[in-house]
Amino acid sequence: MHDLILRAGTVHDGFGSAGRTADVAVSGGRIVAIGRELGAAARVIDVDGLVVAPGFVDPHSHSDTVPFLAGEHPFKLRQGVTTEIVGNCGFSSAPVTELTPPLVPEILSDRAFPAFGDYFDAVERAGTTGNLAVLVGHNTLRAAVAGMDAALPPGALARMERLAAEAFEAGAVGLSSGLEYVPGAYAGTEELVALARVARRWNLVYATHMRSESEGLADALDEAVAVAEQARLRLQVSHCKASGRAVHGDSEMLLAVLTEARARGVDVRADVYPYQAFGTELVALLPPMACEGGQDELLRRLGDPGERAKLRALAEDPDQGTGVGLWREVHPEDVQLMSLGKRLSEVLDGREPWDALCDLIMDDPHGMGVFHTMHDDDVIRIMRHPLVSVGSDSGLPVGPNHPRTFGTFPVFLGNYVRERGVVPMPEAIRKVTSATAAQFGLADRGWLGTGAVADVCVFDPEVIGHAGTYEVPDVAPVGVRHVLLAGHPVIEDGEFTGGRHGRVLRR
Ligand SMILES: [Zn+2]
Repeated sequence: MHDLILRAGTVHDGFGSAGRTADVAVSGGRIVAIGRELGAAARVIDVDGLVVAPGFVDPHSHSDTVPFLAGEHPFKLRQGVTTEIVGNCGFSSAPVTELTPPLVPEILSDRAFPAFGDYFDAVERAGTTGNLAVLVGHNTLRAAVAGMDAALPPGALARMERLAAEAFEAGAVGLSSGLEYVPGAYAGTEELVALARVARRWNLVYATHMRSESEGLADALDEAVAVAEQARLRLQVSHCKASGRAVHGDSEMLLAVLTEARARGVDVRADVYPYQAFGTELVALLPPMACEGGQDELLRRLGDPGERAKLRALAEDPDQGTGVGLWREVHPEDVQLMSLGKRLSEVLDGREPWDALCDLIMDDPHGMGVFHTMHDDDVIRIMRHPLVSVGSDSGLPVGPNHPRTFGTFPVFLGNYVRERGVVPMPEAIRKVTSATAAQFGLADRGWLGTGAVADVCVFDPEVIGHAGTYEVPDVAPVGVRHVLLAGHPVIEDGEFTGGRHGRVLRR
């Protein structure tokens, strides 16, 4: 007698094979049989007309501290996501030392986790609504040994290597970097290679938010590939894009670089989100040197007209290449202020856009923006490529937000796959399941077959979608009908069943 049978759905294996009508039997948290006439079950759910897929795996999430929020937050389960990779863009919740400044408050929360294992233990004590696998972040490692200083003191790199090794020993599944953010932006390539070599000892992945996604994109790609090539480890290029009007069309170059690297033997993959706008802190628009020494120094510089002008000259210098912030890739009308809902161009009040930006950052150094800098053709070209999976780059599901937090996977499957036919359904499902699970070493998830963990998403391909907008992002998606976590129904008939049934997936 099986625990559960999903009856007569269109079953996709997650590897890109065509769907076939079959029953799926689950027992003891695993898939035990797929076919017809599978015998009796304690429970049978009729899923005729629905797609039965492996639970989706999100390669790029910032849900690190969601387990510590009060209440239940099933915003990912509602999208069909059963596993999230967190610790991305160089920011993980551990390790934290007395040198660590308040980098990203929601990720390095008021809870300090000196060791990576402490973070894992705290998540396990709190419980998690979905599965989490965790990367250790380069920004976090660097902040732990050198605060916001640009230069590493003697012995600091060796300390970072030791902390990284402790994180991998504790169960981190890879290393991440966020080289458009401080203090990671202060690092040279050799520092990244040194840490990637530590990750290589456990055969892990290096996921990078590159040093530039705009005019410095080609150099940044070369650096990402060089790190993977020199350290001989897998590379995940995070949230691929060609950002800013000057580089629209450069997605062709980006994909050519990845394909050539792959052909040379670098195990490179990438991810993309289905939106033409990115979202991050406004401070990322400034040259990284603005933040050197910490927040008080940042506020002092922005309050000094001479320093402000110097920063502006640097931010607008076309010859600087990478490492001067994102200001050159945005126009004031591209910048949507999350807390106000308005564009930067609408709040100038007689000021230069640069001055309005600096004033906003002085009011709230962690203020967030949505930046409308991408072209649909680039998004689609990147999304179609077989090396590219789909990830969300979601933030915490509270407060000002980008719609990707609540809708990435339904938008991809509804808008891009059903309505626009960007890729066929079997390939679309591969992009949100096995393509990511394999990259992050999750061997028994991301595919649907006998022996796999029964993380399953059942959705209606005719309905799936998300009506959230940049103005009103926090809208529940539609079309995800049932979600199983290791066989336990956490979404039934579109409703969250309650509780925290996810697991921390240690390496
Ligand atoms: Zn990022």
